[in-house]
Amino acid sequence: MTGDRHIQVVIVGGGQAGLAAGYHLRRLGVDFVILDAQSGPGGAWQHAWDSLHLFSPAAFSSLPGRLMPPQAGEEYPDAEHVVAYLRAYEKRYELPVERPVRVHGVHRDGPALRVETDSGTWHARVVISATGTWWRPFLPAVPGRSAFEGRQLHTVDYRRPQDFTGRRVIVVGGGNSGAQIAADLAHDTHLTWVTQRPPRFLADDIDGRALFDAATARRRALDEGSIDTGGVASLGDIVAVPPVREARDRGLLKAGPMFSGLTPGGAEWADGTRAEADAIIWCTGFRPALSHLAPLRLRGRRGHIATAGTTRAVDEPRLHLLGYGDWTGPASATLIGVGRTARDAARQIRDFLR
Ligand code: FAD
Repeated sequence: MTGDRHIQVVIVGGGQAGLAAGYHLRRLGVDFVILDAQSGPGGAWQHAWDSLHLFSPAAFSSLPGRLMPPQAGEEYPDAEHVVAYLRAYEKRYELPVERPVRVHGVHRDGPALRVETDSGTWHARVVISATGTWWRPFLPAVPGRSAFEGRQLHTVDYRRPQDFTGRRVIVVGGGNSGAQIAADLAHDTHLTWVTQRPPRFLADDIDGRALFDAATARRRALDEGSIDTGGVASLGDIVAVPPVREARDRGLLKAGPMFSGLTPGGAEWADGTRAEADAIIWCTGFRPALSHLAPLRLRGRRGHIATAGTTRAVDEPRLHLLGYGDWTGPASATLIGVGRTARDAARQIRDFLR
């Protein structure tokens, strides 16, 4: 525990979004610290399942200033490679990251924001919240969920298919996590994959590069008052990364409709069909991890905080939100996308501090 410390900017979160913000603040000569709850670099990438690979090649997964090097033998790098890249990035730019430090609350305190942590208090003129979504898994309300006697996991708990060999597993969710985990399990488990609507695979030649372009085009169209292009959602939901493509082409990735409820032994559908299950893996998404901002009382629709100029909170100009999704900058929840939004936020903050 140390005494109170004062600084121009506190960045909460030392994943890719926090580092990108740090990179740009440093270039603009703004004084800042990054507080990160993890014990090592890499943010959420440290917790990914074993077979997770990026949906873009290395060069298209880079933060500002430094290209991600290719990974030997892999066009689409794995999560370990991303962690190594983020570790090297922090070091190269000598970003001042303090960890493990958990921020419990950000409070208004006269002209400053007071940042209470488990290792002391900071006073900052501006706070950038870059805490990601991995830490707030979302599970839908489903009848009978608590009655099910098997294992229930979320994407964040899944590690490897060997943990389920020979088991009856239901994977829920038609996004990238659902498709990748279903593909992982398709070979050696009795898999049932259920999705709310039929899965929409992107064309095989579309990867994260095209998604980034689509998100950027949408933002531009909205900014110019043109017709909404639909962005990424208009292209589809699932990037056909090699393992997903392979399982799909072998006929192993067949999705059925969502069940209507759970029973002690499995799931049941409205037409009376039942499936026994040993485990259910909920790949049903995330919500922004914003509980440390609760004292500011800014939460609005869907747990978001209203922003203006992309990242600045409408009702608290000393707070910026970075990296949570398109609502905090087009493609800002991706490695390649966060840099541009971080740059714009850093410039706004520099001007504000003047
Ligand atoms: P995080 O990586 O979650 O970092 C936030 C940091 O803040 C963490 O270290 C956390 O511990 C810390 N923190 C949280 N709360 C506090 C607190 N109160 N106090 C202090 N510290 C705190 N993007 C791509 O570009 N390519 C991909 O292929 C890709 N694949 C993805 C696959 C999956 C399954 C998921 C879930 C996401 C994927 N993404 C991908 C999206 C995105 O790049 C990642 O989610 C990324 O981890 C987001 O980075 P971040 O810095 O915003 O958040």
